[in-house]
Amino acid sequence: MIFTRKHLLTIWALSLLNLSAHAESCPSAANIVDSINFVAGAMGSVIESLPRKIKITYSPSEGNLGGSVHGWKYPDLNLEITGSKCGNGLSVDGFKMLVCHEIGHLAGGPPTRPFIFNDVPFSVEGEADFFAASVCLPTIFKDENNLDFLLFFKSEPGIESCRSKSTQKEVALCVRIAMAALDLTRYFYATWDSAFMNTTPGEIPTFQTKDQNVVQKTLEGHPTPQCRLDTYLLGAACTYDSLPLTYSSFGNGYTSCGPVSKIQKPSCWYHD
Ligand SMILES: [Zn+2]
Repeated sequence: MIFTRKHLLTIWALSLLNLSAHAESCPSAANIVDSINFVAGAMGSVIESLPRKIKITYSPSEGNLGGSVHGWKYPDLNLEITGSKCGNGLSVDGFKMLVCHEIGHLAGGPPTRPFIFNDVPFSVEGEADFFAASVCLPTIFKDENNLDFLLFFKSEPGIESCRSKSTQKEVALCVRIAMAALDLTRYFYATWDSAFMNTTPGEIPTFQTKDQNVVQKTLEGHPTPQCRLDTYLLGAACTYDSLPLTYSSFGNGYTSCGPVSKIQKPSCWYHD
């Protein structure tokens, strides 16, 4: 076959797209700090509208990357990211989603669970996930060029829910969030600590499957990686017209998708 100049240009353009469409992998120490600062900056108006001041810190340690919210710096809250272990497929986007999840515990609204401070509604794990995918990641990625992520429609069947978006730009943003979710939930799967979680991780999460479990009461703890992926996909496909929202939006029972009562969250963690 003889390649014309047009052919070669097309091949060159496609290989560039292929390279850039793969999410940046394995957050380095510098990337971890940059990513935390990036998320905190982009979510500044939400963080400042919380009922208590929060400090976001990074404490490097030997272990896997993770996060927690605690009151050791009373009266401020401390959102602390720990660990340093790279690998297991965690991308920088996936790591940003993890930071968003921690903010989601404080800003996500109901359903909530008891927390050390009575004046701070603390969202359950599933709701923190929903906030990460429907509010936080759309806010931090919306002004970036996400169009390369459209390529994943071919390699990752099962993210069809993103096609419900009205513009190509919105579809691309949704796909980027879905891919971050896949990276993060596979990291959870690979690093699952059954003794700590008191349960097994189930199957490796994929877009093609759904967690079929139906809870009889809203789960306060961590859902399985597949259940979390289901929640992230639902959040990514939400309609978000005016982001970022403020804390009072959630406190009043609204999310970026509209009234909370109208959103059917995955039954693997949510119960009416
Ligand atoms: Zn959590």
